[in-house]
Amino acid sequence: MITCNGLYLYNFTIVLNSLKNKRMGYIEPAPIKDEGNPFEAMMSRFHIASQILGLDDELYNVLKSPAKQVIVSLPITMDDGSIRVFDGYRVIHSNILGPSKGGIRFDPGVSIDEVKALAAWMTWKCAVVDIPYGGAKGGVQCNPREMSSGEMERLMRAYTLAMTEIFGPDRDIPAPDMGTGPREMAWLMDEFSRSRGMTINSVVTGKPLVLGGSLGRTEATGRGVMVSALAAMEKLKINPYRATCAVQGFGNVGSFAALLMAERGVKIVAISDISGAYYNENGIAIENAIDYRNGNNGSLEGFSGAELIEGNELLELEVDVLIPAAMEDVITSRNAESIKARLIVEGANGPTSAKADTIINNKGIMVAPDILANAGGVTVSYFEWVQNRLGYKWTGERVNRRSDRIMKDAFDHVYSTSQEYDISMRIAAYVVAIDKVAKTYKYRGGF
Ligand code: NAD
Repeated sequence: MITCNGLYLYNFTIVLNSLKNKRMGYIEPAPIKDEGNPFEAMMSRFHIASQILGLDDELYNVLKSPAKQVIVSLPITMDDGSIRVFDGYRVIHSNILGPSKGGIRFDPGVSIDEVKALAAWMTWKCAVVDIPYGGAKGGVQCNPREMSSGEMERLMRAYTLAMTEIFGPDRDIPAPDMGTGPREMAWLMDEFSRSRGMTINSVVTGKPLVLGGSLGRTEATGRGVMVSALAAMEKLKINPYRATCAVQGFGNVGSFAALLMAERGVKIVAISDISGAYYNENGIAIENAIDYRNGNNGSLEGFSGAELIEGNELLELEVDVLIPAAMEDVITSRNAESIKARLIVEGANGPTSAKADTIINNKGIMVAPDILANAGGVTVSYFEWVQNRLGYKWTGERVNRRSDRIMKDAFDHVYSTSQEYDISMRIAAYVVAIDKVAKTYKYRGGF
């Protein structure tokens, strides 16, 4: 029961505005071009969902602006004795739901704008799966492929030291992203712990198991993709044992998604990685493909269990389910019309441009959007933090059972919202997320 006047008014306005929008069947188009720009892609969906919710201008402005942006210069001694200065960023988009959560990207292309977009994405992702975190992201402009282990360690430690007042188990909890992994998270945990004079493993997730990493984390994102795919297939009345699926990207997310889907009866007819796309109409033996990749420097190049096809062809195959799990902006206004799958489950972040959304929706293709479908990873990161704080270790079975339940509940919530407002699953996911964050702001107040 809502008693506070302001809150009552807010909810009343939401209901009125959403009814108005629904009756008129009209949503103002976002005044933004998105293709190729992650921040604008995110903002155009945010804009539509905000209109459906009838979000007032003040709150709209609060939610689109990051809470904190930190830029640091990190001077590092390189192996040849020279000193190089690297730019490091941490953006906290929101910490209204709890400590902020988000990975650290080491990449030459990192910019403050990219980090801002990714931080906001994390806020919506955590809110969709209803875990008590805000969103953040970090980055360092560097090229990990050209750096030695010693240089990486010095850089990671310098970054951590620069962020020691930002990070904390109750403040901001980093994790790996592109260019960083368990090794870097171990250095981060160690440096942060030294600064506090005690071991604090809950400051970061994605750690090696021996340092308090969680069982089930490696496969968590692919597993969440599988749970979302099966839930969506149930709604579309697609029988997994008669279904075909194509998976773009055969790294962490794509290979586990393919394996777990295959284990549930789905025939994976195509997989791909940077070396090319591989097609077999009788189904690809995914375990063999993983073994091959593991023994072939991480690449599918030369894989003989399927025929080589054009990379783009994979996206346009006549399959029931398409899982883009490689990179952003692969389904755009240029190829959306040619997509034949009945269901797209987004393992990657931002694989579909906002312009392509309209085409995909008009074709009647269901999309389990990124902020829902790939949230299994952050969910198990949350479990890692919970276990660290409990000083206890869960079994892999418990981790999987609990993350499956969270993913399924989130799917059902987004699905029922899409039915209620007659909107796409993607916009419904944003509506669920923004509504939760907006309500929290309204209850907490304090502007
Ligand atoms: P990864 O580096 O393990 O794998 C990426 C895969 O994509 C590799 O097989 C690579 O060869 C392939 N690839 C790259 N470019 C390609 C192209 N043009 N065509 C076909 N394949 C191509 O990365 P990952 O961790 O699996 O992440 C994949 C996507 O999922 C990214 O968008 C990432 O942001 C997103 N994601 C990952 C996680 C996670 O827990 N790892 C969580 C959420 C979202």
